[in-house]
Amino acid sequence: MAKSTPHIEIALELQHAYDVFNRELFQGTLPTCMLTLQREKTSVGYFSAARFGNRLGQHTDEIALNPTYFSVVTILETLQTLVHEMVHLWQHHFGEPGRGRYHNGEWAKKMEAIGLMPSDTGQPGGKRVGDQMSDYAIEGGEFLRVARMLLTEEFTLSWHDRFPPVEACRVAAQLVSTSLSSDLGFPARGLLVFSAISDGTKS
Ligand SMILES: [Zn+2]
Repeated sequence: MAKSTPHIEIALELQHAYDVFNRELFQGTLPTCMLTLQREKTSVGYFSAARFGNRLGQHTDEIALNPTYFSVVTILETLQTLVHEMVHLWQHHFGEPGRGRYHNGEWAKKMEAIGLMPSDTGQPGGKRVGDQMSDYAIEGGEFLRVARMLLTEEFTLSWHDRFPPVEACRVAAQLVSTSLSSDLGFPARGLLVFSAISDGTKS
């Protein structure tokens, strides 16, 4: 058996997901970025513009995902977080981001266009803009089409945090209980996680 290289495995899996969503949802226009794993207590993920630099003076953005949640929410939820952060990256390069953590109207419009409905509660009827925002996947929308395609390739995230905090488990249990009515095991509503534990943008 080949020696396991955990960091390479997870990096390739995340990069593959990023590339597929970039191609299918953003026509391949997004620049590459650094995909990192950060166990921040209050965040499922975040976008940080031009966070990394190299000796040639080049910069690249960071999209961080919190592996604490990989084992307690579905892969679909994690992909939803990835794409949420990709919309922040898109807006940084091609739009006009709101100030600080604010998710503005332009961001909300792009989210909806690619199949994620912005909602501060993660449920239908929530506010579309704000500092702490969630979203839910739109049935028949592009995000679900691409995510389902990815998941039929037996896509997985091989490694996860073995010791998720109690809060993460509580939130995940809430997610499961509200997902029972969904088809094919894909939750129709969004990340309730965000009502208590939001994503963030960092500078
Ligand atoms: Zn956000």
